[in-house]
Formats: sequence, structure tokens, C-alpha cells
Amino acid sequence: STGDGWVELREPDVDEEEPTGPVPVVAVVGRPNVGKSTLVNRIIGRRQAVVEDTPGVTRDRIPYDAQWSGRQFTVVDTGGWEPDARDRAAAIAAQAENAVATADVVLFVVDAMIGSTDVDEAAVRMLRRSAKPVLLVANKADNTTIELEATSLWSLGLGEPHPVSALHGRGSGDLLDAILEALPEAPPIRESGPRGPRRVALVGRPNVGKSSLLNRLAKEERAVVDAVAGTTVDPVDSLVEIGGEVWQLVDTAGLRKRVGKASGTEYYASLRTAAAIEAAEVAVVLLDSSEPISEQDQRILTMVTESGRALVIAFNKWDLVDADRRYYLDKEIERELRRIPWAIRVNVSAKTGRAVDKLAPALRTALASWETRVPTGQLNQWLTALVQATPHPVRGGRAPKVLFATQAGTSPPRFVLFTTAPLDAGYQRFVERKLREEFGFEGSPVEVSVRPRK
Ligand code: GDP
Ligand code: GDP
Repeated sequence: STGDGWVELREPDVDEEEPTGPVPVVAVVGRPNVGKSTLVNRIIGRRQAVVEDTPGVTRDRIPYDAQWSGRQFTVVDTGGWEPDARDRAAAIAAQAENAVATADVVLFVVDAMIGSTDVDEAAVRMLRRSAKPVLLVANKADNTTIELEATSLWSLGLGEPHPVSALHGRGSGDLLDAILEALPEAPPIRESGPRGPRRVALVGRPNVGKSSLLNRLAKEERAVVDAVAGTTVDPVDSLVEIGGEVWQLVDTAGLRKRVGKASGTEYYASLRTAAAIEAAEVAVVLLDSSEPISEQDQRILTMVTESGRALVIAFNKWDLVDADRRYYLDKEIERELRRIPWAIRVNVSAKTGRAVDKLAPALRTALASWETRVPTGQLNQWLTALVQATPHPVRGGRAPKVLFATQAGTSPPRFVLFTTAPLDAGYQRFVERKLREEFGFEGSPVEVSVRPRK
């Protein structure tokens, strides 16, 4: 404590943050029938149902989640160019070019039973011009004899061939090790051990009713004083049981002792609010329903959305809202909260206790959205249909294409769109809006970034 009632700011727990940045992408390229699909199934361990070919929808660029030795990456199967295309060499070169452009690592698959062909060599010329790492996979090396013959593939000039039998699994562990070595730094998979109570920031400008709400919660519910087994709780936090669950209300010491109000300037109050939000997983922003939504309210809401925390807005002092006030409040909400239509809203009264029991379900919903992970297959089935129905508008004779998407992380959900070129801001917003329509994310911000191919 700094002695005047203000508690020193804490750094957020850095090790609990998920690393940012997209999950690395591994593209699998090669002639038809060399075993690309079989290899993809081997790599993903058939943990996901491979999306069946749908008439009219190409099998191109279907991404799957994979993990090996605690690292995760996305595998993109680029199979499915027309085997009887007139200019095969051109077709494979174009396909390889596309795959190489969006990938971090390329697996170039050759049929070891057949050896290299003219078509393989055409693709190799293109691959060698790229700066991306390429692993040469000699597939169908079902036995030692073929494995030995595969060494002749050194002649392709892509370095050491990796003999594999995608069908039987032979050599696949070594190949996966080689893939990991070639990948850029990937985020480790987070252990999901037992965790303590969910951390909630109760914030709002002075006099909105934060202390009153905290007192109300502590009165109606059993205030929890003892630490929950296996957790360490900061002394400035309160543990309160709300809706049958223990929650950790961060940095509420000042509220409990009611010292914060008299001391400190607005500057310190806002620093303290920011620190509480950083330390929390979900923020409850209190607004005074009897007064217009102010700039200070807006600043606090912006702090929450920029921090990427889940958000519940509590309209407090609802007992003071009459029909007249309700009319204007609805208009203010429409105007002032337009940018955060996804925030969960509850109308409460700390004074009467009205609807205070709505708080816990709202917090649970917001946190569930915040931690949502959309399976890659589901995400891309939805995305394929969306971009087919509403393609990017043509600009200067060309339209950027959305190739596929992956979810790079949660808390909040973060998505990466892989595209042929940067998207119009309007189209990106359209995709974001549709993403919410499809998957919800009520109470959570969602980040969408675009990765145009290089
Ligand atoms: P893609 O067109 O490159 O995706 O090739 P597929 O994965 O569809 O495989 C083509 C054929 O090769 C299928 O009949 C597979 O069963 C077969 N195949 C794939 N991998 C192997 C392998 O390691 N050994 C053998 N003997 N056959 C394989
Ligand atoms: P804080 O500064 O955000 O902690 O706000 P307080 O809890 O100290 O409340 C400020 C004033 O608003 C006090 O006079 C409270 O009695 C009053 N107040 C808080 N909640 C309500 C409510 O739900 N209804 C009404 N009518 N007054 C409230």
C-alpha cells in the first residue's frame, strides 16, 4: 500500500496470457495419388473427421488442427487439382505457388515407389525459388527396400528425403520431428490444471454504486473470507460467493474500506481501474442508470474492450428509472453503446437487490464466450459457404480471396484469415459480423486479423 489508501498497481500474470500470433501453417503439396490425404490423416492422427468432398466445393486448402510433442500447428491439404488438366506442369506449379505463399513450412510429397517425375521436377523449380522451408517427403516407403531407393530423391535438390509410409505409419514420427524443427516458434499447449475462482473487476466512475453493490453481494450471499484451497488470493481482493460460486473480485479493498473515494485524483482512479481490469478475466462495468452515459463511462468501457477482457455492463440504480428516464436511456444505449452490441447487459439495483442474481449467469456466459474455441473444420465449412455466397467486391479488376481461417487463440477468441491480398476494411467487418452471428461470443470481444500471402 502507498499509505494513502491506494494500493500499488500489480503487473498482470504474464505467464497466464496465451501467446499471440497465428498458429503456424504446414501445406502439403504434390501430384495426385502420391498420398497427400493419407499423410494428412496420419499427421492429425484422425482425431478430426476429415471433411468429405462436397460436390461443387473444391477439396483445396482444407485446414486441420495438428499437434505433436506439445506444439500445435495447422495442416493444409492442397490436394485436388484436376489430374487431367491440359497443362499439368502449369497446374501443379500454380497450386504449389499458392500453398507456398500461405504456409510457414511446405511438405512436398513424392511417390517413392515411382520416383521423381517431370511433373515433380516442375514443381521443385518453383519451390526452390521460394524462401519457405520445404521438407521432401518420400511417401509409400512401406519397407526397407523402397526406403533405400528413396535416397535417390536427393537429386531433386530439396535436401534430405524423409521416407514415410503414410498408410502404415512407418517413419511418421521422424517426419513430425522434422516438421517441428522447421516451424517458427509455436505457442506451447497450455496445461488446463485446476484453477482458482474466476477473477472479476468491478469498475465504474465514482458514485455509480460499486461499494453498494459489493456490500449487497456480501450481505445476500455468504461472504467468503477463507482462501479457497490451493489458491493464493491477493489481500486487496475479495472472495464472494455469488450464485453458488466463489468469485474473486479484484482490487476491492478500497471499496470495502471505503477509503478510495476521498483520496486520489481521477488520474490515480483511472490507473487503478486499468490495473483491476488487467488482473481480471471479466469486467463488470457499472453505469448509473439515472444519469446520462458520460465520457468517463465511455473511457472505462474502452479500457475493457482494449484489454480484451470479457464484459458485462450493469445498469445500476434501476430503482430510479421511471418510464420517462427509460425512454431516454434506451436512446442513449442505442447511440453510446453502438460499438459494443455484444456486451451483456443487466439492470440491477444495489439498493433494493433487484436482479442482482442475474449477475452470476451473465458472468458465466461472458466467460464461456471468451474461452470459446471453434473447431477448424467447422470454422472453414462456415467460411467457405460465406465467401461463396458473398465474395469480396472486385477492386481494380481483381478481388482478394479468403483462402481459409484458423483460430489463433482464446481469451478472447482470435481468428486469422489467410487471404490472397489485403481485404477492404468493410469486407473484414462483414466477416467479423457474420462470425458473431454464427458463433455468438456474447459478452466477449473477438479479434480478427488478416494474413495476406507473401
Ligand atoms: P493424394 O491424391 O495425394 O491425396 O493421395 P491419397 O492420399 O488419396 O492416396 C492415393 C493412394 O495411395 C491411395 O490408394 C492410398 O491408399 C495410397 N497410399 C497413400 N499412402 C500410401 C503408403 O504409404 N503406402 C502405400 N502402399 N500406399 C499409399
Ligand atoms: P461508488 O463510488 O461507485 O462505490 O458508489 P457508492 O456505492 O458509494 O454509491 C454512491 C451513492 O449511490 C450512494 O449514496 C449510494 O447509496 C447510492 N446508490 C448505490 N446504488 C444504488 C441503487 O441501486 N439505487 C439507488 N437509488 N442508489 C444507489
